[in-house]
Amino acid sequence: MVAAKYIVGNWKLHGSVQENAVRFAALKAGCQPGDTLAVCVPFPYLAQAQQALQGSAIGWGAQNVSEHAKGAFTGEVSAAMLADFGCGCVIVGHSERRSLYGEDDATVARKAQAVAEAGMMPIVCVGETLSERECGDTAQVVTRQLAAVLADASEELKRGLVVAYEPVWAIGSGRAASEEDVREVHALLRGQLEQAGVIGARLLYGGSVKASNAGTLLNVVNVDGALVGGASLDAEEFLAIAQAARA
Ligand code: PEP
Repeated sequence: MVAAKYIVGNWKLHGSVQENAVRFAALKAGCQPGDTLAVCVPFPYLAQAQQALQGSAIGWGAQNVSEHAKGAFTGEVSAAMLADFGCGCVIVGHSERRSLYGEDDATVARKAQAVAEAGMMPIVCVGETLSERECGDTAQVVTRQLAAVLADASEELKRGLVVAYEPVWAIGSGRAASEEDVREVHALLRGQLEQAGVIGARLLYGGSVKASNAGTLLNVVNVDGALVGGASLDAEEFLAIAQAARA
């Protein structure tokens, strides 16, 4: 049996209680049997996600986590707290975290480990910037980012790992990577995962995925789903991506 494509929404810094209520209701109404959907919402809306999505098949999670378990880290949220709350997944190492908040490969690896140890699914983002791509460094950058996560990965992490290839230049630009680019990078990442003994990890593509290109991108070999930013804020569009995944 072919596993369903995993479609994850990243709401980023968007939403309000009122807006979210409408979006959650639409997602719940439109989700079809067999869909594997999840939304990663801002921390204050986790409670709302928990309540609104109860009884539905739609998963929900966070967009970031602390690498620390507890202590004097004002403003941080630990993996255990998220798990305690019922989160199923956490995005780790999004390019916005790496570029705007200085998260390096080692920090991302510690966060992924913390998420897995708490029993949740880490969605680890990797991807090259435009200048790295133009220098021909795409393969080197994404394999370095993934290698850091695999280096001391526990069995829990290896079992639950999801990797999202998100070329930085494709995020929010309206310009998704080409099928050829996605095929090439995903094959590379799959090989690296298998070499590290990580079999069956899900590989998502992210970067300007929308209903009109989802079918093509999701059909590429080794693409097990999509991480969707902007388009996940429009429930109809997000559900159309889910429909493309079904097709
Ligand atoms: C993202 O932020 O993870 C993302 C993929 O954004 P977008 O779909 O808007 O390019």
